[in-house]
Amino acid sequence: MIIIQPIGNVEEEILEFLKKFISTIFNTRCIVSNQKLATPEDAYNPLRNQYHSTRLLLFLKNVLRGDFNRILGVTNVDLYAPHLNFVFGEAESPGKFAIISTYRLKHPDRRIFLERVLKEAIHELGHTIGLAHCSNPSCVMYFSNSIIDTDKKSPKFCKECLKELKTRNKC
Ligand SMILES: [Zn+2]
Ligand SMILES: [Zn+2]
Repeated sequence: MIIIQPIGNVEEEILEFLKKFISTIFNTRCIVSNQKLATPEDAYNPLRNQYHSTRLLLFLKNVLRGDFNRILGVTNVDLYAPHLNFVFGEAESPGKFAIISTYRLKHPDRRIFLERVLKEAIHELGHTIGLAHCSNPSCVMYFSNSIIDTDKKSPKFCKECLKELKTRNKC
């Protein structure tokens, strides 16, 4: 089962949208957690005015220790990793925990915004299953260096990644 865990205030519509498509794509049960989690302020870096994504991931792991499900954290704060200006998300690969941020995915067209969120969610969940980055620019496992890459790729796995996913999802 995949649990979607909001961190801070995340719109219900985003969570419900993710739930619907994630359960279909990964062919598993998916629920939205009703546990309220505040954004941990020790992950905040005032010099960058951003949150450290690995620390947020560790926070999730600590809070949800002993949960044997796959967890997708969703936040609306801006995330960074030490050598990158920003990240859209981060995941253990392979592992059980992933997070995504909606912060840099905003678009006036709601449909485009939601599709971006879904792509990043599937990408990070793909990592938790053990999938690496893919060289096919239309595959969801393609690394997004910028939002342009996210918009170019589809929310789907390419043939190769899908094959890999099916093999790994069994174990
Ligand atoms: Zn990635
Ligand atoms: Zn691929």
